[in-house]
Amino acid sequence: MNFHEQSRPSSPPLRPNDDAKATLPSLVGATRTELAEILHRHGVAERETRMRVGQLWHWLYFQGATSFDAMLNIGKALRAELAGHYSLARPQVVTEQVSQDGTRKWLLRFAPAGREDKGAEIECVYIPESDRGTLCISSQVGCTLTCSFCHTGTQRLVRNLSTREIVGQLIIAREKLGDFPGLVPPEDGLLPANGTRPITNVVFMGMGEPLFNFENVRDAVGALADGDGLSISKRRITVSTAGVVPQIGRLGAEAGSMLAISLHAVRDELRNTLVPLNKKYPLKELLAACRAYPGASNARRITFEYVMLKGVNDSPAEARELVRLLKGIPAKINLIPFNPWPGTIYECSDWEKIEAFSEIVFNAGYASPVRTPRGRDILAACGQLKSETEKLRARARLAVEG
Ligand code: SAH
Repeated sequence: MNFHEQSRPSSPPLRPNDDAKATLPSLVGATRTELAEILHRHGVAERETRMRVGQLWHWLYFQGATSFDAMLNIGKALRAELAGHYSLARPQVVTEQVSQDGTRKWLLRFAPAGREDKGAEIECVYIPESDRGTLCISSQVGCTLTCSFCHTGTQRLVRNLSTREIVGQLIIAREKLGDFPGLVPPEDGLLPANGTRPITNVVFMGMGEPLFNFENVRDAVGALADGDGLSISKRRITVSTAGVVPQIGRLGAEAGSMLAISLHAVRDELRNTLVPLNKKYPLKELLAACRAYPGASNARRITFEYVMLKGVNDSPAEARELVRLLKGIPAKINLIPFNPWPGTIYECSDWEKIEAFSEIVFNAGYASPVRTPRGRDILAACGQLKSETEKLRARARLAVEG
């Protein structure tokens, strides 16, 4: 696989026709700690490391450099040394689809992570609105959770994404949206109004369960939020979980991102069937973890997502129970009309039902926006993502299911 194909057309390949180059590990997505280790290994003295990491960081994440040659404040010898061992390859864009409503979906392929890995594929979705742009990124290839209403759940987990692969999704998205110095935005889709950067928010609501990949997600949040580089404020990064209770407190303490909970039901019995993880971490424990979430406040509310399934979880009594359950938690409730996918047994609630539900929640003092489905025509909406990546052997799979 040749990742140079994804370099900006205007930038020269590092060394054309050198196949070995294509398999060099990419620095794109590396954390400061990783860069420091790498520089060390290539002879940079301890006292210089901080400065050199800062320089590299600026080129990688502020400038979006696609060639070491561009990094003019880094000495020629060090640039050549780095270029001999690393690439600046991005994930490969296998396909790009643009919805009628401007939503974009990219199918991305990553470099093989090892001998058994043929190069994982994941989907990544960009949702432009007039005053913001949200990038929905994936944390795993596939998912182990098997939530009964989610398309991704029908794909067996292949593996966790590395920190670099998670960060790489924002880099390639910024590049495709023309949001690095010297690039131009595409003309075939909507972007937020002038003066607003194309990507203002990042949500971990693509494929996978982020809290089953805790360390990599935490480190990726750190890299995305770094003010000298990608600069997405932590208040604009939301990690969504189906409820991996033991990791929720750690997320607040170690990553400091916003939290979203995929709730979807107010009784354990029903939630056990919709979100089977509930059998392990029932509602009471989940809500206790939310009450204790570090940093939650009225200014930093926890989002509760609730997918509207016709005749399953959409009654007024359930809306009232939802309000009761969330008492005392700084919360906003996001009602998501169910997005159908081929083979599903569920239907989306009728519009009047959704409105009635929303009104009960709103009258109880909660913001309860109904999330307008975006990108349904290209299967880019919540829960519709799925890639055809081949599965790893069972042993390799178990290693990440932990
Ligand atoms: N595993 C994490 C991250 C995925 S987020 C989590 O569960 O939170 C994706 C969001 O879309 C979740 O809230 C999920 O419950 C919701 N979702 C899944 N399938 C859906 C569908 N078909 N229609 C609408 N929302 C769906």
